[in-house]
Amino acid sequence: MDSRARLDAAHPGERIIAAMSSDSSRPRVLTFEAARHLVEQHAVGVYPGDVETVDLLAGLGRVLAEEMVADHDFPPFARATRDGYAVRAAVLAVVPARLEVVGEVRAGDWPDPARCSVGRGQAVGIMTGAPLPAGADAVVMVEHTSLVVAGHLVTDHSVEVRRSVGAGENFVPRGAEARAGERLLDRGQRLDHAGIAIAASVGKSQVQVFRKPRVAVLSTGDEVVEIDATPGPAQIRNSNSYSLAAQVQNAGGEAVRLGIAPDERGRLRALIEEGFGCDLLLLTGGVSMGKYDLVEQVLGELKAEFYFTGAEIQPGRPAVFGACGADTPVRLPAADALSTRTGVSALHKKYFFGLPGNPVSTMVTFELFARPMIEALAGMTPRGLVFLRARLKSEIRTKTGLKRFLPAVLSGEFENAEVELARWQGSGDIAALAQANCYVVIPPERERIEAGEWVPLLMR
Ligand code: AMP
Ligand code: MG
Repeated sequence: MDSRARLDAAHPGERIIAAMSSDSSRPRVLTFEAARHLVEQHAVGVYPGDVETVDLLAGLGRVLAEEMVADHDFPPFARATRDGYAVRAAVLAVVPARLEVVGEVRAGDWPDPARCSVGRGQAVGIMTGAPLPAGADAVVMVEHTSLVVAGHLVTDHSVEVRRSVGAGENFVPRGAEARAGERLLDRGQRLDHAGIAIAASVGKSQVQVFRKPRVAVLSTGDEVVEIDATPGPAQIRNSNSYSLAAQVQNAGGEAVRLGIAPDERGRLRALIEEGFGCDLLLLTGGVSMGKYDLVEQVLGELKAEFYFTGAEIQPGRPAVFGACGADTPVRLPAADALSTRTGVSALHKKYFFGLPGNPVSTMVTFELFARPMIEALAGMTPRGLVFLRARLKSEIRTKTGLKRFLPAVLSGEFENAEVELARWQGSGDIAALAQANCYVVIPPERERIEAGEWVPLLMR
């Protein structure tokens, strides 16, 4: 097959990979969608780390390395979902009807069919969560019944039912939710509270999860100082290492903060090489067009392959995605710390993202591009970005050409949500971002969006 035919046969995203690997020095600015797809495609090819066993609650937010299988039928018996009386539905075709109460089943009781079963004209008192006694095919809610007054005495020997009920109502048949042996959670699913409930229900006090990927975080910039320093007149505290570390943890990774690289080749290169000892490297700053933006140059010296060197988005246009090292189809070792003596070429393929240094750009590009790679390294089954929609509160005017992810506030009562842009001073404005709870997504061709229009949102 010639290369042209191969490209034609490929998935649209694969075509991009193939087309791009031919010349690694050209700038490659992709549309947002193409850039995102490229990351997703690379993410499919990575392997999670080793498996470890943790206590159930320590598994919250971790990625399952085992399936959760029903160890019994769910529910294990026909389970009443209402307090009331177990009956034969057919006898309530005409109501009101008087039924003889022949017993009671409480939650936790097991009704002995010899002594507690429902015949025609009979009822058995039943509580939510209790097993349906033999002979019954429905539960009538207690709210639709009254105990019969005999003379001046209220007895629990008979009950008057005011509403009819259909067969099958107000109980869940045995095994209706899941049969024994059925898979309830997949490997690669991230455990949330619902997953914890499943694990608990099948008797797992410990769960097998994937080791968290180690993600190196390296800030760059001569003006950037550590957060406990008192910044000089032209210095900025290193907030990016911390926001990124938080986002890494949130995405299921373990952040390894490598500190701050100055805008100087040697030190930057040493720290980048150290970063390749982790499963993934995130850099911030130094990817714009400035004279001292050295990140791409130094990665180029390390024989990096660049999949994109920019995306048509705002904030975050200069974002870079690439990899260093040989493309070996083996599991990533747990922590193959790189000694600078061995050189990067001896490495398994390691991906990196160079995120722009402006703090809002850093945070946005992490969510758009770095997160799916971290999730894949953590063993998660890939999932696409999901956008919600809400009504715009006040008009937006912007320029065309870039897809915009603008910090915004979603508010309103109950179902009446409305969204409004946060007032911000641009990509450095973390104060505005801290007030925002989402991003409004504006397509590149739109200049004006009117109040009242439904706009896509990415939640933060
Ligand atoms: P750069 O991407 O290096 O051109 O940086 C863009 C802007 O982001 C500059 O105003 C930097 O001072 C700022 N910046 C870069 N790195 C950081 C960081 N680690 N923490 C906070 N701000 C930063
Ligand atoms: Mg810089």
